[in-house]
Amino acid sequence: MQKQDVIVIGAGGGGAVIAKELGEQGLHVLILEAGPWYGNKMWPHPNTEAGGVSSRCPNDLDVGLFKENYNRLENNMNNQITGKLRWGPANREHPPWNRSYQQRGFVWQNSGVGGTTQHYLANSPRAFPASIDSEWPLTYHELVPYYEKVEAELPVEFAPTTSKEELFYFGARKAGWDLLATLNVEAPGFRPQPNAILPPNANFLNPAYSEEQLSWMEGCTLAGHCINGCPIGPSVDKIAKRSTNVSYVPLALKTGNVEILPNTFSYNIITEYHPEEGLKAIGVKVRNTWTGVRDELFADCIIVAAGAIETPRLWLNSSLPVNQWVGRGLVNHQMDMVTGIFNEKDLLPILGCSEVNPFVGHTSGARLDHPGLGSIQTIGTSPGLMASFTYALGKSGATQSEQYGIQKGRVMGKELIELMGDYKSSLNILICTDDEVDIRNGVSVLTETPDENGPIPSIRYTPTTNTLRKKRKLVKIAADILLQARARKVIHSDWPDGMMIHIMSTMRMGYVVDQNCESFQVNRLFIADNSVLNNGLGSANPTLTTQAIAVRTAEQIYKKYF
Ligand SMILES: Cc1cc2nc3c(=O)[nH]c(=O)nc-3n(C[C@H](O)[C@H](O)[C@H](O)COP(=O)(O)OP(=O)(O)OC[C@H]3O[C@@H](n4cnc5c(N)ncnc54)[C@H](O)[C@@H]3O)c2cc1C
Ligand code: SF4
Repeated sequence: MQKQDVIVIGAGGGGAVIAKELGEQGLHVLILEAGPWYGNKMWPHPNTEAGGVSSRCPNDLDVGLFKENYNRLENNMNNQITGKLRWGPANREHPPWNRSYQQRGFVWQNSGVGGTTQHYLANSPRAFPASIDSEWPLTYHELVPYYEKVEAELPVEFAPTTSKEELFYFGARKAGWDLLATLNVEAPGFRPQPNAILPPNANFLNPAYSEEQLSWMEGCTLAGHCINGCPIGPSVDKIAKRSTNVSYVPLALKTGNVEILPNTFSYNIITEYHPEEGLKAIGVKVRNTWTGVRDELFADCIIVAAGAIETPRLWLNSSLPVNQWVGRGLVNHQMDMVTGIFNEKDLLPILGCSEVNPFVGHTSGARLDHPGLGSIQTIGTSPGLMASFTYALGKSGATQSEQYGIQKGRVMGKELIELMGDYKSSLNILICTDDEVDIRNGVSVLTETPDENGPIPSIRYTPTTNTLRKKRKLVKIAADILLQARARKVIHSDWPDGMMIHIMSTMRMGYVVDQNCESFQVNRLFIADNSVLNNGLGSANPTLTTQAIAVRTAEQIYKKYF
């Protein structure tokens, strides 16, 4: 294969964005993605046959194949071992990729073109300005034009109001919080979720159209499968939930300059010493996940966008220079769940109907932001997932202890059956804590237990006392909102600390990379994923900020090297 201008490793939240931006500048970009590509004619049976080698043409995208794969079935999509959106190779006969955890919990990521955004809820808030201005080598003001560009491209809209959002707003108002009408959050308040989801389909209440017909039209149908991978839309580039495989990947292909190789795991970055430039990245060693065949590929610049666990793993497995912050400072937005169960008669005057129906609408359509503490967000997934989040995950076991006058811990037996019977009258709130960076948290590699791609990542994470204090305050705020909305019972799930969903900051800007995301120690090596985020953004969901920074990095790469 000829030498490329740029190689991007990983086609997820950040990788697809930087590839599209550089492709638009006329650079030849090769994306190496370890996982499968759903919805591409080159891989008609992506989990059972090796299929083609690469794709660079927008006409290869096929919405029929996409819908066959994104089938909305909870277990089929979410199962960590066999589900389509798992962390592992395309071939289902092979197990998921291994990681070692030093604490209870699990890392929730998925491989494939689109990366973990295939799963994500598309919540796209900006970082809190104070969290950038206080610590980053960039100001919030400098990021705003890049936020605006990504918000227009995805596009980002404020989520519509269904019952669960309405009930949340009712409780929040009664608890004394104000509505925020801004994207730049500087004071506490509640607001509709800024979401990368297309506006509702204009016909979705029109009885002349069946559900099947609506699913082939443009616009969200409020059907609430977002977390399973949204299959609603007339073509791959018009799917309602704007994961990068349906937003930035089609845009990248349309530049005519971007080629993507799925099923291609990068396991080593090749460097050489240059008399003028010093140590610089020149290529990547890869392994085909179907055939096991290894190869070397070369480019003028290498961009790593493999996610906040695999990017430091790749650095460490490539024996790049020692930097005490590589893999360190992992931030994990301490999450938790608080659930209110309501009586039908109390819901009627608030909602005009007797049920919350949490599964209807965007999975997460409303939020309350509290700079200095974090955020809380409504969440309504399908009943099985919801039961695990709310009643099965608690680290305090089935103790049913009381804290702040609310029930805490796991629910089982007769009570679980009763609560699942009340599923339609429940409102779930996800806690998302502003997590403090601590150099002791992070990723190293276990050389004694390699898999086929090299030593595996070992992850350790213990939240700081300050982080846990903030989490407790957010739990209290969420419980208060539910009680103000007249919940008859409130349950705090008490998630383990190691539930990793917003994984960031393992290759921090200002410590491992400079403000243009180029490595301090290896020239022409850039990073474009969540790992470059300097801190936890105040608790804002990270992807939009990663994408805004990726747009800025593309600009800087082009200016400096082309
Ligand atoms: C259930 C769920 C809900 C979420 N909801 C939200 C939300 O609403 N809003 C939000 O902002 N965030 C959300 N997130 C987090 C969001 O998904 C991540 O912030 C985002 O995907 C991170 O982007 P990334 O580029 O860092 O990594 P990823 O998107 O994980 O992409 C990394 C890609 O690199 C590939 N890769 C890894 N290693 C290699 C290698 N060595 N060689 C080649 N390829 C490799 C992987 O297969 C993957 O495709 C959610 C996450 C989960 C699990
Ligand atoms: S609610 Fe979610 S799954 Fe349903 S159409 Fe909208 S974005 Fe897609």
